[in-house]
Amino acid sequence: MTGVSNYDLAGKRVFVAGHRGMVGSALVRRLASENCTVLIADRRELDLTKEEPTLRWLEANRPEVVVHAAAKVGGIAANNNFPVEFLCDNLEVELNVIRASHTIGVQRLLFLGSSCIYPKYAKQPIAESELLTGPLEPTNEWYAIAKIAGLKMCQAYRRQYGDDFISVMPTNLYGRGDNYHPDHSHVPAALIRRFHEAKLAKAPTVTVWGTGTPLREFLNVDDFADACIFLLKNYSSDLPINVGSGNELTIADFAAAVAEVVGYEGKLLFDTSKPDGTPRKLLDSSRIRALGWRANTSLRSGLASAYEDFLKGYGRHLEVPAAS
Ligand code: GDP
Repeated sequence: MTGVSNYDLAGKRVFVAGHRGMVGSALVRRLASENCTVLIADRRELDLTKEEPTLRWLEANRPEVVVHAAAKVGGIAANNNFPVEFLCDNLEVELNVIRASHTIGVQRLLFLGSSCIYPKYAKQPIAESELLTGPLEPTNEWYAIAKIAGLKMCQAYRRQYGDDFISVMPTNLYGRGDNYHPDHSHVPAALIRRFHEAKLAKAPTVTVWGTGTPLREFLNVDDFADACIFLLKNYSSDLPINVGSGNELTIADFAAAVAEVVGYEGKLLFDTSKPDGTPRKLLDSSRIRALGWRANTSLRSGLASAYEDFLKGYGRHLEVPAAS
């Protein structure tokens, strides 16, 4: 069932579910250069955790394409602390969006997964075939189980009804529109904020969570949005497809890169009482590369634009919610 499709987005109505998130907003920016109509709905207008209203909204707005970027997301601590939301909210939204997309007969649906769906000790770099070959990383298994369920829903609808639903697995993302919550964010946003505040306070040290030894691959969210549009046009298969940058480094090296971009010159300390998470998470992105796509933003320039974006919204980032 692996195939290269030739889908034309021109003139199509494309619904981006989750347009306020980092990925959703990057998709809306990227879709602006396609000749299509982008549909979005504010949370007040549409609550995707509610089945009936979701179906009614889709029936009324009739998208031909749905990009499912709506999810409850967060870093290692948020995942650990809010297992119910990460599992149940994500499952609810997936069921509602995917099922309603089938009911109204959308032509294409792209479901966003995550590299954490793969086993903790998956063979590196992680090929799509590693899915469900071993136990998950416990710090984010709630989110991972929900994402695995979503990709299985896409496979099930394809198998039973021939729906052209695809699943895309991004590596660790960063960039414009990230969530800068000090405790619940992912490492890029957490460190941009911490180093910036340490620079302003002229603090001699900054604490980075864990040992600094875990390896992570980082992909700029605008590159990822570009990959999603590429896949909508060029990929049709029941197999999920990985999207990475190949840009892998230790958390210690990543922290040093963030400090440099932010202009923080103090010392980095490592708090080993905080979890490291999975030791390594490098995606094997050879399948999307074979189709002709690759990332083109360097880590340095991507971090610089993320920092610029953070500075623009700095006042807003300080008003952090108690739980995100
Ligand atoms: P993960 O890839 O699912 O583990 O997601 P994260 O982005 O939350 O964490 C990546 C790695 O960065 C883990 O090893 C964390 O321990 C480490 N890390 C270092 N400092 C921080 C921080 O301030 N916040 C977060 N979220 N992670 C941090």
